[in-house]
Amino acid sequence: MFQDITTLLLDPKVFKDTIDLFVERYKSKNISVVAGVEARGFIFGPPIALAIGAKFVPLRKPKKLPGKVFRQEYDLEYGSDCLEMHVGAVAPGERALVVDDLIATGGTLCAAMDLLERAGAEVLECACVIEIPALKGRERLNGKPTVDSAYES
Ligand code: 5GP
Repeated sequence: MFQDITTLLLDPKVFKDTIDLFVERYKSKNISVVAGVEARGFIFGPPIALAIGAKFVPLRKPKKLPGKVFRQEYDLEYGSDCLEMHVGAVAPGERALVVDDLIATGGTLCAAMDLLERAGAEVLECACVIEIPALKGRERLNGKPTVDSAYES
């Protein structure tokens, strides 16, 4: 069953409460980069970035970014996909937060973290609005930063 976050966006109070949950958690963690996963990480990432005083870096599907990119492929249930990040968007040593709407198997967040780590950043956590615990995405991130989900499906 597809978890649709667009209904959440229709209610400004719920949308704001969702963003505020993350802002409260990350505002004092000295995070300089919020990296959002295309496409729904582009909805939740920028307001978090603005509120905590961090830059926003889009992690995009292939061939969307005009400059030189780091590229990371990852497996899906059927087939594979890819994320790209501009070289130079993140400097070595920066503290990063990865944002997406949902964690299912964790493959997308693993690829996102790999991109940031290849640029020399330290990924503190991944923040998702929804977690599907049955798919055990957290376990896939074992040894990597934890996930902070606002809601479980
Ligand atoms: P994973 O890589 O963890 O298996 O899948 C997570 C990615 O797939 C996220 O980028 C998320 O946007 C997308 N995704 C997978 N299933 C759903 C769903 O049911 N609802 C939404 N909103 N996104 C999903």
